[in-house]
Amino acid sequence: MAGFSYLDDVLTSDGVRLDTVATAVGTPFYVYSAHVIRQRFRDLETGLAGVPHAIHYALKANSTLAIVRLLRDLGADVDANSIGEIDVALRAGYQAGQIVFTGVGKAPSELARAVPLGLKAINAESPGELERIDAIARASGTRARVALRVNPDVDAGSHPHISTGLRRNKFGVALEQALPIIREAARRPGLRFVGLHTHIGSQMTTLEPITRAITLLAALARTVIAEGIPLEHLDVGGGLGISYDGSGTPDLQAYATAVRHATADLGLSLIVEPGRSLTAPAGALIASIVDVKHHPGGRRFVVLDAGMTELLRPALYGAFHRIQPVVRDDRAPATCDVVGPVCESSDTFGTDRQLPDPRVGDLVAVMDVGAYGAVMASNYNRRPLPAEVMVDGDAWRVVRRRQRIDDLLALEE
Ligand SMILES: *Cc1c(COP(=O)(O)O)cnc(C)c1O
Repeated sequence: MAGFSYLDDVLTSDGVRLDTVATAVGTPFYVYSAHVIRQRFRDLETGLAGVPHAIHYALKANSTLAIVRLLRDLGADVDANSIGEIDVALRAGYQAGQIVFTGVGKAPSELARAVPLGLKAINAESPGELERIDAIARASGTRARVALRVNPDVDAGSHPHISTGLRRNKFGVALEQALPIIREAARRPGLRFVGLHTHIGSQMTTLEPITRAITLLAALARTVIAEGIPLEHLDVGGGLGISYDGSGTPDLQAYATAVRHATADLGLSLIVEPGRSLTAPAGALIASIVDVKHHPGGRRFVVLDAGMTELLRPALYGAFHRIQPVVRDDRAPATCDVVGPVCESSDTFGTDRQLPDPRVGDLVAVMDVGAYGAVMASNYNRRPLPAEVMVDGDAWRVVRRRQRIDDLLALEE
């Protein structure tokens, strides 16, 4: 029983009843299926078999230790977007040589710590950053392995807030600026220039932008190599979307095939940095209905004990997430707006949704929250971060306990 499915009309994760888990841990909570993560990682592994590659899981999608350790055990490496994520990776048992460090604004303190670690690569964003990395490396008597993030001016076709590969976006250096920057970096004594990097956006639902960006990056790599600057790898980023609403999206194997074709004959090792595509479908947010309100004109609001504080994506990007009852019965479906408890009208998970005649106390599941769910949660309204539960086989366990008010106040005078 893989993933989320109904068994005797009760929603289960890998066969574990989620109403039972809710009784034990309270709501709201996130639940993750280890099985789904394993399956998705192996799909990508299989698709890339035969070409030298490394799968660097993008920690920012979900860096709960239990998930990071699960992926490490599967053979994943990591992409970190901050020194905090690097620390999490090290504590999860990763070696520095398994970590690439990305980020549009790496603070001096982050570089001062990251450079001497000897990471697999620091994906530099600008000539200024390369210069700063060089200075730190020389001062500490090391040579930092660096790649350059290139912005290929390719439209990812996803929501503007999560498109990163257009000229107007803040990320990387423009393709036509790259060559002189690479030549200079290759001459710096504190740097070892090892690769090229791109990442044009997230939640891409077609492969065309990805292959276009990779093809441009591969052409640049050929030019760089022809100039006598040897490269080790091509890092093609992440960004493969998932189907939040049931419409078709390319699967991980199709993605892998497209990546392989776009880089064929290059002779470089490939790095991919998937985040969402590995973990999003593996997670659900389980919440309780705390109120049902009928407004004049017929709108019915179903208020949950979870909202934008537990899942920001609908408020931030107007993102769609399926919402399902945890217990199915024969109550007639009703049309309702499913909302959170926070004092913001954007705190809405879905409008005009169908739920079986909702009642206070019912459990609902918000689906596909395994990526960009828990990591974007906040304490707004002094709401404690929810518990996180991992289901593995027929067992489940709390992998992060619910925050308490004491945790929130621990840092205050
Ligand atoms: C966010 C990010 C990723 C992962 O993106 P997904 O859409 O979750 O696959 C990969 N690489 C970089 C540099 C990122 O910033």
